[in-house]
Amino acid sequence: MRLGIDIGGTKTHAVVVDGDVVVASDEAPSGRGPEAVVAVAADLGRRVLASVPHPAGSPVVERVGVCVPGLVDPSTGIVRQAVNLGVEELELGGAMQRALGLDVTVTGDVKAAALWVHRTTPAIPGTRLAYLNLGTGLAAALIGPDGVVGGLRGAAGEIGHIPVADSPPCRCGQVGCLEALASGTALHRIWGRSGPEAGCPFAAALDGDALAQEAVDSLCAGTARAIQILVLAGGATDVVIGGGLTALGDPLRDGISGALQRSAAATPLLSSLRLHERFTLRESTVPLAALGAALAAGQAVDQRRFVDIRASVDHDDPMAGDPDDRAVPHQVG
Ligand SMILES: [Zn+2]
Repeated sequence: MRLGIDIGGTKTHAVVVDGDVVVASDEAPSGRGPEAVVAVAADLGRRVLASVPHPAGSPVVERVGVCVPGLVDPSTGIVRQAVNLGVEELELGGAMQRALGLDVTVTGDVKAAALWVHRTTPAIPGTRLAYLNLGTGLAAALIGPDGVVGGLRGAAGEIGHIPVADSPPCRCGQVGCLEALASGTALHRIWGRSGPEAGCPFAAALDGDALAQEAVDSLCAGTARAIQILVLAGGATDVVIGGGLTALGDPLRDGISGALQRSAAATPLLSSLRLHERFTLRESTVPLAALGAALAAGQAVDQRRFVDIRASVDHDDPMAGDPDDRAVPHQVG
């Protein structure tokens, strides 16, 4: 069994999975600042582990995966620039390992969700999947033959911070980023309303709310642009969209499809790609990132075992050196 913990900007989710089956889950409001982030995640992890029935004395969970927003280096477990958590830099892997007394693997949250989506999407030869997360922010992950693409310091897939317009300012310091046009934050900024009591922006737009119309137009056009980037620059053939905004359902799907078809009408290049047929919404009440974090923990341990086997084969080679000095390959991140 594996424990997966998703430390989100608002909530921290924890799941215990046995194979692909969730046997326990719980959530808590996330801490803010390095110490509180770790304390909340560790307490929640212990609580959800305690809720799993198991025979006395047997270790119920051997592997722990933690995922978090920001730039994550999975080889060191260090996270940087997790702005929504008030974290500039944190050695999250080491801190969680000390708190739980278990081996911990750290992954970026969108990359973790992508791992789970990849695991649960039927493989079709010749296709290449990208996962696009529409939540508080906008980010993506590309899935290659060896797993989720990490890139420079974990930055691959951070397409929300590609500037595509002259305004507005983005929280990252640039101007006109895709995320500033298409994300939960952008939706509520343009509409001027937020929270559960605000209702559905698509319904408000239909009722004649001009700001709601502007907000959903920006969301759909920006998401269409993100899909175009993932296909043209990332090599994706299929894009799965997840994240909190997928709760908007069919109006969001129709709006993105309409924006893609309007772009395609102006150019044979795009119309030949039929991008409006290449994306799906993955609406889910299951915390995809927590499940993916648990999955990443298992993969990392398997990779280390692979290195150990190679080290024993090279035992008589005087040039082999200390296996502990070798770089440990990570499939994730
Ligand atoms: Zn930005």
